[in-house]
Amino acid sequence: MGTLVPMKHMDTLLERNRAFARTDAKDRVPAVPFIPNRQLVVLTCIDPRVDPAQVLGLELGDAIVVRNVGGRVTASVLRDLEWISHLHREKTPEADWFDIAVVHHTDCGSALFADETLREQFARLGHHDSVELAELAVVDPAKTVAADVETLRAAPLLDPASAVTGYVYDVATGLLTEVV
Ligand SMILES: [Zn+2]
Repeated sequence: MGTLVPMKHMDTLLERNRAFARTDAKDRVPAVPFIPNRQLVVLTCIDPRVDPAQVLGLELGDAIVVRNVGGRVTASVLRDLEWISHLHREKTPEADWFDIAVVHHTDCGSALFADETLREQFARLGHHDSVELAELAVVDPAKTVAADVETLRAAPLLDPASAVTGYVYDVATGLLTEVV
């Protein structure tokens, strides 16, 4: 197992954090953590090029951001969103409902799940289900985003008052296009 090695890249960030703590950004956040300032949930890829804070100009407290490989609606994502819905229903029924934006993007690394050799090797090493991994591949983002929006719209524990929309982000142009 790993020995403790100093992190090369955190020093600058810790400095930035101290500067951040001196601003009033942290005082403009929502009072209830599942009622973000813009009542929005954004689901997108972990790819550093698609950071929604930058791409969508989100400020601290604006949205609940969920990220995984591809920005896919997995069982774990679904459970998180259903949990937020449940909290909303039980704890803050009078508040506005949140909307959900699913963003897939061009040139997504998840497309490599479609590479059989890579995927089979990874599935073997990590004891993962190769068929499930293959389904995560974002090869055609307009197609996968539509499928994931469909899944969310059909999810029984998500409130129908939550509008679910899907977008494709083009990493070359920086533009977001609405798909569904
Ligand atoms: Zn990606």
